[in-house]
Amino acid sequence: MNKVAVLGATGSIGASTLDVIARHPDRFRANILSAHRNVAALAALCATHRPELAVIADPALEGELARRLAADGVRCEVASGQAALAAAAAGTQCDTVVAAIVGAAGLDSTLAAARAGKRLLLANKESIVLAGPLLLEALRTGGGELIPVDSEHNAIFQCLPGGRPNLRASGVRKLVLTASGGPFRGRSRAELAAVTPDQACKHPKWSMGRKISVDSATLMNKGLEVIEAHHLFGAPAAAIEVAVHPQSLVHSLVEYVDGSVLAQLGNPDMRTAIAHALAWPDRVESGVTPLNLATCGALEFGAPDLDTFRCLALAFQALRAGGDAPAILNAANEVAVEAFLAGALPFLAIAEVVEGVLAELPPQAVVDVESLVARDGEARAAARRLLLRSCS
Ligand code: NAD
Ligand code: MG
Repeated sequence: MNKVAVLGATGSIGASTLDVIARHPDRFRANILSAHRNVAALAALCATHRPELAVIADPALEGELARRLAADGVRCEVASGQAALAAAAAGTQCDTVVAAIVGAAGLDSTLAAARAGKRLLLANKESIVLAGPLLLEALRTGGGELIPVDSEHNAIFQCLPGGRPNLRASGVRKLVLTASGGPFRGRSRAELAAVTPDQACKHPKWSMGRKISVDSATLMNKGLEVIEAHHLFGAPAAAIEVAVHPQSLVHSLVEYVDGSVLAQLGNPDMRTAIAHALAWPDRVESGVTPLNLATCGALEFGAPDLDTFRCLALAFQALRAGGDAPAILNAANEVAVEAFLAGALPFLAIAEVVEGVLAELPPQAVVDVESLVARDGEARAAARRLLLRSCS
C-alpha cells in the first residue's frame, strides 16, 4: 500500500488527487491531508478518506479542527503550522507526497519531502521556480524521485526516453510547451484594461484555483512553466518554446534532432497527469473521459502574443538573467496577483509590477534557502511599494 500525503487537499489539484486515490483503494491510501484555513472542508475530507494525520497550516485553527473531527467520530492525529507540514512531508506516515499547495508557501514541505527521499509529485510549480537548484540538490541527497504533475511537464516526462535523461545525449532538440492562451487569447491591450478577476478566472478549458487561473490569463503560468521545464529537464531557455493551442488536447511536445516530434494528448483533466505520476511506471485508470479523435475537431497551434501578454516575456528574461531572478519574478507576481484578485490592481499592471521589481533587484547567486527566502521577502516588499504607487 502506497501511503500518500496530499498537501493542499482542499484545492483543485487536491480534489483531483483524492478522486484518483479513491478509485484504487488496493494501491493508494490518502494518509495525510492538509489545508490552509478551510477547517470545514478539511474535516469533511478526513471523514471521507480517513487519514492518519490532518494538518491545518494556520495554528489558530488546530483546536477547531480537533473538535470537528471528534464531533464527527473521526479518529485522526491533528497538527498545525508550517513546521508540522514539513515534518509530515518528511515523516513515516507517507511514501509519496503530492505537493499541491499554491505559491511559495509550498516550498518548505516540498523541500522536506525531497530531502526525505519521498516520491514527490510536484504540482506546486512556484517552489521549483523559486528554488530550482536547491530542490534538485535536495532530491539528489535525499535519493527520492520527482514526477511532474503540471500537465505540460508530465506530458514531456512521458515523451522523453526513460523519463528525465540528459537531453543532448538523447537527441532532444527542443521542448515545446503548449498554452491554451487563457480566457483573453486574441484580445488587445486596450481590451484588457478593465477586465475583472471573475473574467480572468473563467478559464475556457481547465477548472483551477484562482491564483493559477489569473496566471493563465496573463500567461505568467506559461512563464513559470518555462522555468519549471528548465530545472526539471535541464533545458536551456533557447531549447524551450511555447505554442498556443486553444483546444488544450496536446499537453506538450518533444522535438528530436531527427525531426520526430512526440506529443502527449488527452482531454484536459488533471486526473490523467496525477494518475500517471501516482502509478508510474505502471498505468492506472483515472476516471478521465477518453479522447475521441472522431469528434474532437481541428487542433490549432500558433505563436504567443508576447507584446500583449508581457508576463511570458518577463519569465524568459528572468530565466536568462539567472541566479535568483526567477524567485524575484515569482514573488512579485504572487503579490500582484493577490492585489488584482482583491480588486486593488488593474490586470495589465500585474506585468508592470513584476517588471518594476525585476529592474529594482538585480539577480544574485542562489546560495541557500535562508537567503532565497530573504530575497523573496525583499521582492514582495518592493512589489507592495510599487502597488502603493500605482494605486495612489
Ligand atoms: P487551489 O487554490 O485550488 O488550492 C490550493 C491549496 O493550497 C488549498 O488546499 C489551500 O488550503 C492550500 N494553501 C493555500 N495557501 C496555503 C498556505 N499558506 N499554507 C498551506 N497551505 C496553503 O490551487 P490549485 O489550483 O489546486 O493549485 C495548486 C498548485 O498546483 C499551484 O501551485 C498550481 O500552480 C499548481 N497546478 C494546478 C493546476 C490545476 O489544474 N489546478 C495545474 C497545474 C499546476
Ligand atoms: Mg500547466
